[in-house]
Amino acid sequence: MNRCRTCVMPDTRPDTPFIDGECAACVSYRRRPLIDWDARRASLVALLDRHDGRCIVPSSGGKDSTYQVVTLLGLGADVTVVTARTCHLTGIGRRNIDNLARHARTIEVVPNMTVRAKLNRLGLEMVGDISWPEHCAIFTVPFVMSEQLGIPLVFYGENPQDQYGGPMGSDDAMNMTARWRSEFGGFLGLRASDFIGIEGLTERDMADYQFPAFGNWLVEAHFLGQYLPWDSRRNADVARAAGMEIPDQPPTSSNWWRAENLDNAQTGIHDYFMWLKYGFGRGCQQISVDVRAGLVTRDHAMAWIDACEGAFPHWYGDTSFRDVIQRIGMQPEEFQRCVNRFRNEAAHAR
Ligand SMILES: [Zn+2]
Repeated sequence: MNRCRTCVMPDTRPDTPFIDGECAACVSYRRRPLIDWDARRASLVALLDRHDGRCIVPSSGGKDSTYQVVTLLGLGADVTVVTARTCHLTGIGRRNIDNLARHARTIEVVPNMTVRAKLNRLGLEMVGDISWPEHCAIFTVPFVMSEQLGIPLVFYGENPQDQYGGPMGSDDAMNMTARWRSEFGGFLGLRASDFIGIEGLTERDMADYQFPAFGNWLVEAHFLGQYLPWDSRRNADVARAAGMEIPDQPPTSSNWWRAENLDNAQTGIHDYFMWLKYGFGRGCQQISVDVRAGLVTRDHAMAWIDACEGAFPHWYGDTSFRDVIQRIGMQPEEFQRCVNRFRNEAAHAR
């Protein structure tokens, strides 16, 4: 494993080219001051004007969606928040969704949670990703609601390829196209239709995860982070000022940030499998953002990685690991078999 010479991201992640020992996210970060942010902001205002300010913000109630809502409201937008229920909603997640409803009209879409739990277990068993249905829903539900509500403009937050690195050129993607959705949406080659017929899952069960076949409806999905500089810590500050609850500690010891992914108790398992498969977890991405921003030194980040990376999420916030797997109908022995199956030794070689 080689790590970026600027931050601590390893080169074990798929689709993350290194250039002269530096990861794509660091290259992208250094290019940021060259971007004419005033011009981008002006094009954002023009975009909103073209839509009479009406827009949808897909949300989980987290810091980024709260920042997006508050910022777009500040620009005079008429925001409708569309929240796709997380797989295992936490108490703090519930309170933060309710907090967002203090600021804007909020629509909460809750799928059949028995189907969801089945998909969580199957996602873990088939592709080592407990969060497959959630990622799929995040990139499906807002598009469905766009058509139902007659609001074509949808704002996602950051372009993940820009912040965390991806194939060169993808960070220029101003809009989220259907191709982006299928390539980077985190589906690991699995389509919703692949589940039909497995363990009694029907076409109707999977409808919440199928990208709609729009007739003449044209959705314009954009990343707000392409128009306004993205800063996760600032987003957390803005969200806290807007009433979002942020705990004193990260949800689990392998996280570096306190303010992220508070809404889904399964996130600890999702991140643990990311570490098993790729040799790094979410905490590594979080601390790398802070190294880039000059908030911590690379040495400090390396020491933190050595101490905390890969720690098992016995607790995630106030939810125990046992509760999480019990809810998806999985026994500890079955879970352990998934761990053994998806651990990639090559990604852990030093
Ligand atoms: Zn880097």
